[in-house]
Parts: sequence; C-alpha cells; structure tokens
Amino acid sequence: MPKPKESLNPFEEAQEQIDRAGKKLNLAPDLLELLKHPKRELHVNFPVKMDDGHVKVFTGYRVQYNDARGPFKGGIRYHWNVSIDEVRALACWMTWKCAVMDIPYGGAKGGIICNPKEMSKSENERMTRRYASEISIIIGPEKDIPAPDVYTDGQTMSWIMDTISMQKGYTVSGVVTGKPIPIGGSLGRDEATARGAVYATREAAKRTKLNLKGATVAVQGFGNAGSHYARLIQDEYGAKVVAVSDSKGGIYSEKGFDPKQVLAYKEKTGSVVGFPGTKKITNEELLELPVDILSPAAMENQITSENAPRIKAKISAECANGPTTPEADDILYKNGVLVIPDILANGGGVTVSYFEWVQDLANFFWTKPEVDQKLEGVMVRAFDAVWKMHEEKKCDMRQAAYMVAINRVAEAYKWRGIYP
Ligand code: GLU
Repeated sequence: MPKPKESLNPFEEAQEQIDRAGKKLNLAPDLLELLKHPKRELHVNFPVKMDDGHVKVFTGYRVQYNDARGPFKGGIRYHWNVSIDEVRALACWMTWKCAVMDIPYGGAKGGIICNPKEMSKSENERMTRRYASEISIIIGPEKDIPAPDVYTDGQTMSWIMDTISMQKGYTVSGVVTGKPIPIGGSLGRDEATARGAVYATREAAKRTKLNLKGATVAVQGFGNAGSHYARLIQDEYGAKVVAVSDSKGGIYSEKGFDPKQVLAYKEKTGSVVGFPGTKKITNEELLELPVDILSPAAMENQITSENAPRIKAKISAECANGPTTPEADDILYKNGVLVIPDILANGGGVTVSYFEWVQDLANFFWTKPEVDQKLEGVMVRAFDAVWKMHEEKKCDMRQAAYMVAINRVAEAYKWRGIYP
C-alpha cells in the first residue's frame, strides 16, 4: 500500500487537533501550550518470571495527561506497538473524551509493550500484578482510575484490583473500572462503548435522514467495541452488517450475516475469516466498501490521506481511538462523509466506567435498564452539544467535539487558576 504523506506519530496528531480547535476558539496561547502537554508520566521497567523459568524485563507506562476537571481516567493497553507517544496521545484523547461526555474526570492512559497473544495466562497475571504494583504509587480511586483497553479485559482489571487491595489490606473496588460483576463491576459496562456508539450513530442518522433499518454496515475490528457494535446495530436498529474484520483479515457478504454467529465462529476458530457464505477481504478493502455506515473499531491511523478519497460511507462512527488522521479528516469533510469522532462516538465506555465508579463508591448498584437509560441521556446530550458547535462554526464534527471539550477544560482552569 502506498504510504500517506502525513506523520503517523499519534501524539503529533493529537497536538495538531488541539491546535486546530484552539485557533478556532481563539484560545489564549499560554493555555493552548499547557493543553498540548501531559502533566505527569511514569515509565516503569520491571521483571517477570516466565513459565520456562527465565526472567523477562517489560517496559510499561502510565501517562496522566490532565486533571483540571477531576481524577485521571483511562484504560491500559497491552500491545507490541505500545510506545510512549501512543500512550501520550491516548491519554490526551481521554481528557477530551471525558470533557465532551461531561463526566467529572481528567484523562490518562497506560500501556505495556508486550504480545499477550504469545503469553500464557499465568505469565499475563504475573506481568499485570507487577505492573499494577509499579504504578500503584500514582493510581487510586480518588486520583487515577484505570480500565480495559486493547487486549485487556475484566480479568486484567480483577488482578489489578486484587493487587492494590492486597497492598492496602482491604478491598479497594473503585481503583479500576471494567471489573466483572461479582467484584463491583457495573451491568452494561462490557457493551457500553458499542452501545454508546450505536446511540451516536442513531443521532447522526437522524440528522442526515438515513434510515437505519436496512442500512449497510462495515466494522473494522471485532474486539469488544466492534463485535458489540455490529450486534447492537443489527439487533436493535435493523441495520444490515455486510463486512467485519479482525487482525487476520475481513469477510464480506452483500446479503449480510448475523454478527452473533460470526462471534461464535471466531471464538471457535480464532478469526472471523472463513465464516461460511462470505468472501475474504483485507482490512484496507473493508474501509472502502460501498456501505452506509463504517465503523473503524480497531487501531489508530487506519484512514489517512492515502485512502480517505476512496471512503464511500455516509457515516464513519469511530469506535477505535485515533483511526483517522487530521489530513484524512479534511478529505472526508470535503467529500461529505459525516465522521462521529472517537472522543464522542466511543465515549460510552468511559461513561459507564464513571457509573461503575459511582456505584462502587456508594456501594449501591443499578439495574441494566437504569445504566442504559443514563448512558443514552449522556450520549444524546454530548451529541447535541457537538452537533450544535458543528453547525455554528461550520466545521467538521471532530473540531466541534474538540471545541466543546477544550472550552470545558478551559472553564475549569478559569475557576481554579494557576498554582501557586
Ligand atoms: N479504554 C477505553 C477508552 O479508550 C475506556 C476507558 C475507561 O473506561 O476509563 O475510552
């Protein structure tokens, strides 16, 4: 594939997005400068005993980007491509995500450079517990609350919660979110990123007069966000899912298929590829299919200046963080593709994390309909605020979302002032 011309350093992209919105807002240059830098970064190198007896040294990070609006919040990613600039970008995006959803958190992110696919469960557990212990000096329910991200899940969160609780001598359930239900998790958290993205898609479809019933959908990535998104948009809104993919490739069928059956197939065989009645396609081809709705739900930098001109979808609902470069945004905007930006589209995950944390602190738990209804309210309010800004400032939805978010963070600074 030809290389795009832009830099694919995610933190440079995040800074460019801040610059773009900051200029449109006429933000004071000193505040703009402050918002372009993380507050605190912890780098840790730590040993883990592997199953064969040798000791491997892993590198991990926790970046606390901004806490003007509340405690730091954001997931932990296990991936071979984790780098400090990626974690910085993800922590920065969490700041804007929490602000645009209007939940009382700042932004943070963590990551370990590792390949969890090649590790046994016990190696993964020892790595997770040691990393939790290393970052325990800066996390806690009142200061920084991690959650799952790429290749981490409820089991990972359980080990972190248990490790911190062992150190304290009592159970600290509010130290992480995305936990299983029996240890203080919230109903609906597992599907919340996707459910929120489906509510956002519904709002976008209303504005663009697209009927979701029968609308065709392609989803890149079939992890937590992508697989639930495909299921919910089909089961609850009658859309037709025609393509999905994972790291091994994608599948396409003009007639559509049931994402629940594809998930069962993936659980059995390890991939969506080969699902009966579908044609094999690549991840790149999936993005360019003639569909109504595209959801990039995998990794960063999937839509660049190189392939953006060939995107045919009417709506792109970003379940992934950072899938579109700023250069690609300009092309999609010019071509009339309505992008629901990541910090809005996938904000349902951290919103239900917030609900989980509130329930843990109160020791009082909600029903699934209560969670879903509150999530819907938060999503619709956030979507409306961004849509209004998009119309007022005549700019794309990402710039609008950044403007809403940056305004809210700036407001917090205005009240708090600069210490000392
Ligand atoms: N990792 C998720 C995200 O990128 C969830 C973060 C959270 O729940 O704190 O939004």
